[in-house]
Amino acid sequence: MAQINLERAQRPTRTQRDMGATSRGQMFRRRMPASARRQIFLRRFVLAPAREALVNETRTEIDDVEAMTTDVKALVKEMGADVVGIAAYDSRLLFTDAPERDHRFVIVFGMSMKYDCLIDVGPRSQGEVHRVYYTLDDMAVRLAQQIGSYGYSACAQPNMGDIPLPAYGYLAGLGELGKHGSLISPELGSSFRLVAASTDLPLTIDGPKDHGIEDVCASCNICTRFCPGDAIKPEKKEANGVLRWHVDAPACLPWFYKMYGCKICLMVCPLNARGRLKAEFQKVAADIRQVKDAKGMVRLIEQRTGEEYTNLDGDGGDGDGEVSSTDR
Ligand code: SF4
Ligand code: SF4
Repeated sequence: MAQINLERAQRPTRTQRDMGATSRGQMFRRRMPASARRQIFLRRFVLAPAREALVNETRTEIDDVEAMTTDVKALVKEMGADVVGIAAYDSRLLFTDAPERDHRFVIVFGMSMKYDCLIDVGPRSQGEVHRVYYTLDDMAVRLAQQIGSYGYSACAQPNMGDIPLPAYGYLAGLGELGKHGSLISPELGSSFRLVAASTDLPLTIDGPKDHGIEDVCASCNICTRFCPGDAIKPEKKEANGVLRWHVDAPACLPWFYKMYGCKICLMVCPLNARGRLKAEFQKVAADIRQVKDAKGMVRLIEQRTGEEYTNLDGDGGDGDGEVSSTDR
C-alpha cells in the first residue's frame, strides 16, 4: 500500500459553491426531491446547532480505554452505521475556516447507500444521498451528546463540518482514497457516505489499513473513462502538500448539476463488486461492457430515465478545488 504521506500537509480550503450563481446550479436546487429539501432543512437548522456536545461537569474517569472504544463502536453500530473506525485528530487536516479544537480522536463511521438508487442517477439517487446524510448527521449528534454526558468535549463532524471526511475515513482504516476522489471501502465499495465526531474522550486509534485498493486504482481507469466531464485525472497530483488522486471540480460540476449529483464514477467502480454489492454490480458491469465510454453511458441513462442530459445546457460550472463523495 502506498501510504498517504502527511508530512507536508497543509490545512485544506473548503470547496465553496454558490448554486444560485449559475443557471445549472439553480436548476439543481429546483429539481431536488421534496424529501431531500426537508432533510437539508433538518440538518441545517436542527442538527447543526446541536453539533457541540453539552459537557457534563461530573466527568466519568475512563479506566479501560479498550473497553470504552469497544462500547463507542458498538453504540455507533447499534445506531445503524455499517462501518466505524477511530483516527487521530490532526490539526493539519482541518479546513482553513474551521476552529482549532483541543480534540485527540475522530470517530468516523459510514452508512451504505442503496446501490439500486445510486445507479438510477436521477431524483431517486439524490433522495438517497440526503436520506443517508440526514441519518448519519443525526447519529453523529447523538454520539457527540452521549460523549458529553461522560464529561468529555465532543463535536459532530458532518459533511460541512471542520474536517475532510474522506481523509479521516482513510486515517480510521475504513478504506482507501480511490482515483475518483472518494473513499472506497472493502465492504461497501464506493456506495456509502461518511460522518464523524471529534472528541477528547480517550480511545484507541485504528489507523490506516492496506485494503489493496491503491494497487487496483493504479492499473484501472474505468472511472476516468466513464466520467462525462473528463474530470478524473489518471495521475496523482499534489494538493495542500499531499500527493493524491485528483478530481477537477470545475469540470465535474456542470454534469453534477445536470445529472442530479451524477455519481457515474461511484457507480462504475469495479471495487463495488468486492464486498456486499457483488451480485448487484453484475448489471452495471454488463452496461460497462455494452456502452464502452462516457457518452454511451450518458445515452443509456437518458434512455432508461427519459431525462435529457447531453443537450441540456446552461452556463458553466462554478467553484474550484476538489470534489469527493461528500459532494456527490
Ligand atoms: S473505477 Fe477503478 S480507478 Fe476508479 S476508483 Fe474504482 S478502482 Fe479506482
Ligand atoms: S460525479 Fe460525474 S462528472 Fe463528477 S467526477 Fe464523477 S463521473 Fe465525473
